Amino acid sequence: MKLEQRYEGKAKRVYATENPHEYIVEYKDDATAFNGVKKAQIRGKGEINNAITAHLFPLLEAAGIPTHFVERLSDREQRVRAVEIIPVEVIVRNVAAGSFSERLGVEEGTELRRPVVEYCYKSDTLGDPLINTDTAVALDWAGEEELSRIRELALRVRDFLTPYFAGRGIRLVDFKLEFGRTHDGQIILADEISPDTCRFWDAATNEKLDKDRFRRDLGGVEDAYAEMLRRVIAPAQG
Ligand code: UDP
Repeated sequence: MKLEQRYEGKAKRVYATENPHEYIVEYKDDATAFNGVKKAQIRGKGEINNAITAHLFPLLEAAGIPTHFVERLSDREQRVRAVEIIPVEVIVRNVAAGSFSERLGVEEGTELRRPVVEYCYKSDTLGDPLINTDTAVALDWAGEEELSRIRELALRVRDFLTPYFAGRGIRLVDFKLEFGRTHDGQIILADEISPDTCRFWDAATNEKLDKDRFRRDLGGVEDAYAEMLRRVIAPAQG
């Protein structure tokens, strides 16, 4: 049962439950970009992101990555383990795109010789500035050991998801993860994995099938999200 709302973010609401160690997350259709400057609704997004995350997190668990996911409850809701979110957004990149391309003058679509893990401070007011792990330790956001565990888990997520999507005709360009700390101090994967938080390009055409269609006014946003849900739940090809 949903009790009081604990948190409202840009795309989700989090509610307490009768179990102090569990929350219910509700996925919204609201979309924002450029630090909330651009706002709109993407019809069906909440249901799609809930379904995609609810499909992928158990696969990650089975691959040995602990996550907050417990069960999907309805079209928009899932039950998750309660965590304290570590205020560090972890970005993993296979291919140059977005802020990486702009910052370093590297053409979008350039394959990286090895995956790159970047860290940003989760702060809307500051626009999620890039940090390093020293900063996170110095400001008491996470311990040194927690950060090395986070990096290890983020790379394991990448090692699982990259071939998973390749088998479904998708190039996994980059993605953002968030981790949380349970009441007993375990670091687990939290938040979501969806077209809001990943760059997905069609492997054959490089067509964008993610939130960049909204950020860059490319049109076909709803169709791209629906196509990603179809690909995620489809069996691997070939
Ligand atoms: N990302 C996200 N939330 C953020 C920032 C980035 O989910 O607040 C995702 C984004 O969708 C992309 C990856 O993280 O898949 C890398 O984003 P980038 O740093 O290139 O930022 P952007 O170009 O989106 O500003």
